[in-house]
Amino acid sequence: MIKGIRLYRFLFLNIVFCIIIASIIAVYPPPQTISSIAAIDPARIKQADWEKRDCLGVQCDLCPFRCFLPEGSRGICRVRMNVGGRLRTLVYGQPVSAHIDPIEKKPVYHMLPGSRIFSIATVGCNLRCSFCQNWEISQRNPEEAKTAGQILTPEQVVDAAIANNCDSIAYTYSEPVVFYEYVMDIAKLARQKGLRNVLVSAGYINREPLRKLAPYFDVIKIDLKGFNERFYRKVVGGDLKYVLAALKELHELGVLTEVVNLVVPGLNDDMREIAGMCKWIYDNLGPDTPLFFSKFTPQYRLGNLPATPIETLEKARKIAMDAGLRYVYIGNMPGHPGENTYCPGCGKMLIHRYGYAILENNLKKGKCVFCGKEIPGIWD
Ligand code: SF4
Repeated sequence: MIKGIRLYRFLFLNIVFCIIIASIIAVYPPPQTISSIAAIDPARIKQADWEKRDCLGVQCDLCPFRCFLPEGSRGICRVRMNVGGRLRTLVYGQPVSAHIDPIEKKPVYHMLPGSRIFSIATVGCNLRCSFCQNWEISQRNPEEAKTAGQILTPEQVVDAAIANNCDSIAYTYSEPVVFYEYVMDIAKLARQKGLRNVLVSAGYINREPLRKLAPYFDVIKIDLKGFNERFYRKVVGGDLKYVLAALKELHELGVLTEVVNLVVPGLNDDMREIAGMCKWIYDNLGPDTPLFFSKFTPQYRLGNLPATPIETLEKARKIAMDAGLRYVYIGNMPGHPGENTYCPGCGKMLIHRYGYAILENNLKKGKCVFCGKEIPGIWD
């Protein structure tokens, strides 16, 4: 009898142990070991930055995961790998998306409204958001990319942006942090040729790489996906504290930063958390920080959830404005008044938007034409 109880207890503890390990692996998947890199042209495997080496392998110091990679292993992001004892990037010069977008699509509202932005991405991401809008590229290995085999050098990217009358280049769609070396080379060249640079990121990056990258950027748009560590670990696959640290760093560096929060019903739409987020932004980034609350539409692993109700987005916007934030927008809701920019001085409408279109612009040299108040942003 006692032996039977012990056996059941032993089995029960084993099952609990397995569940705990499975949960940890689900949130922090271990580096992938792959047997071959045959599908990737060796000529395109480029030395990566932020490498630390020792006799057991290499460590990548680019993002907070700090993946330790034995020979032949890849990081969580899938695109950085130990090849021959060195840290290599597998996606340099290999975009899977290159499009011309209106800048409002990023969304970026405080830089050159109505302008065209050349937008580029490779595969890979260091996070695992269950609601990812671009999971088909962010959660892919380089050798699985539909455009595997195509090369676009930084020079070609910049030339294409200029030839298509774009004022700026966006590093976007997937997670540009993980194609850092390609981003840096394009951004430097773009600057030399008079183009502006926009980084659209989840802000999951270590301090030193961010400090090196930031000076080449005119606007950095950060997806702040929620304001709850548990939500970040479970649904996003990272730690909120690192994103907040990156936001503070950008503020200290003086980079124009816009913040987007995708509001997912039942997961990050608690108004107390949203109030906490708004207060944090006000206290740490200042009242002039543009903040978007964007509508979620069911997709990827969260296809069972409903879209965000408009009332939720309006409530969140009101909380943010009551907290003192001056530029609070509602995203993915064409025609909603929350798409427009209003003057915090006189309350008049400065930029009238409909989706990605600019219907009216009442800014002159960055100032409100009605009361003369200066509006933070890059306008000319
Ligand atoms: S960038 Fe990739 S390889 Fe480097 S630490 Fe982050 S997840 Fe790991």
